[in-house]
Amino acid sequence: KMALRVVQNAEITLEDVFVPETHRLARADSFASTSEVLRVTRMGVAWQATGCARGAFEHAMRYTKSREQFGQSIAGFQLVQDLLVKMLSNVTASTAVNVRASQLQDAGSLRDEHASLCKVHSTVRMRETVGWAREVLGGNGILLEHHVGRFVADAEAIYSYEGTREINTLIVGRAITGESAFV
Ligand SMILES: Cc1cc2nc3c(=O)[nH]c(=O)nc-3n(C[C@H](O)[C@H](O)[C@H](O)COP(=O)(O)OP(=O)(O)OC[C@H]3O[C@@H](n4cnc5c(N)ncnc54)[C@H](O)[C@@H]3O)c2cc1C
Repeated sequence: KMALRVVQNAEITLEDVFVPETHRLARADSFASTSEVLRVTRMGVAWQATGCARGAFEHAMRYTKSREQFGQSIAGFQLVQDLLVKMLSNVTASTAVNVRASQLQDAGSLRDEHASLCKVHSTVRMRETVGWAREVLGGNGILLEHHVGRFVADAEAIYSYEGTREINTLIVGRAITGESAFV
């Protein structure tokens, strides 16, 4: 794997499996039960994406203060500051959206579309942020010892699991229009 290498994944094939009634998961009778799980795990991934973006931003921020070019730290260049501020905006916006959704979750009123919106928003903003973080590190951005490359790689897995951007978008789209674009 190129991302989240610490997470162990395996392909499991089940053939002719008989599950006795006593081993069935209680109260899990339909896809609605799966959706209930996804609602919670999608919020977790939205936070994971925010953490990934924040980690990349913090590394980039530190780097810009220590790296000198043309006789000054690169943190003083306007175009570098532009990227730093855009990264901070993304991290701040994702944090705010996720805090609100987590409050709804605590109050027991989080809906599928809330979790999907958080997942879409946080992962899209994360992907943008880790790219900019890598950019401000210049050539050093591709060296693992500078850590930002790890965030870039991990972001790709976070972007796709617990439902891709497209699928989570369609869940939100269905909620706001009343029309389902998928079956
Ligand atoms: C590191 C990692 C860990 C994972 N862990 C788990 C796990 O623990 N449990 C688990 O069940 N799964 C797990 N997954 C699987 C993950 O949830 C799926 O990879 C993800 O949901 C996307 O499904 P897919 O790979 O089958 O993509 P596909 O469904 O083949 O989609 C491919 C592309 O087509 C798009 N697409 C598909 N259908 C539509 C449509 N109707 N309209 C528009 N676009 C569409 C998708 O958005 C995507 O861009 C993991 C994946 C990774 C990378």
